[in-house]
Amino acid sequence: MEQTFIMIKPDGVQRGFIGEIISRFEKKGFSLKGLKLVKVDRPFAEKHYADLSAKPFFNGLVEYIISDPVVAMVWEGKNVVATGRKIIGATNPAESAPGTIRGDLAVEVGRNVIHGSDSVESARKEIALWFPEGIISWQSSLNQWIYE
Ligand code: GDP
Ligand code: MG
Repeated sequence: MEQTFIMIKPDGVQRGFIGEIISRFEKKGFSLKGLKLVKVDRPFAEKHYADLSAKPFFNGLVEYIISDPVVAMVWEGKNVVATGRKIIGATNPAESAPGTIRGDLAVEVGRNVIHGSDSVESARKEIALWFPEGIISWQSSLNQWIYE
C-alpha cells in the first residue's frame, strides 16, 4: 500500500492544529503508520528541502522549519500521495481551495502549516530521512469498510 510523508510545520503546531490535521487524514480513511514531535537542526532541514536550495526563499524556509517543533507522520492508503496533496491544497494558501487544510487554515505561502510529499519517489526518500528507525507495521481493522 502507498505511503506518504506528512509534516505539520511549526506554525501548525503552535496554532494548535495537530488534532485538526490528523483528524482530516483519519476521517478520509488513511492509516497512521508513523508519528513524532521533533525539532530538526539546520543540516537536516536543508537536506529535506535540498531540491529547493537555489530558490530565493530557501533560507527563510529553513529558518521557519527549524524555529520550533514539527510533527512528522507517515500516512498509508490507496493513492495517499496525490490525495494527501489534495487534502493539503495548493502551495500558496491564497490559491488553496476552501475545504483544504491550507485553504481553511493559512494565509501566506511562507506560513502554510503543512508539508506533504509530492510523489511516491519523494515520499520514499522523505520517510527514510525522517524515520530512519523504521515504522510499525499494522493494519486497520476498518480497512474492509474503506476498501472493496
Ligand atoms: P509544497 O510542496 O506545496 O510544500 O511546495 P514547494 O515544495 O514548492 O515548496 C516548499 C515550501 O516552501 C512551501 O510549502 C512553502 O512553505 C515554501 N515556499 C514555496 N514557494 C515559496 C515562495 O514563493 N515564497 C516563500 N516565502 N515560501 C515559499
Ligand atoms: Mg514540495
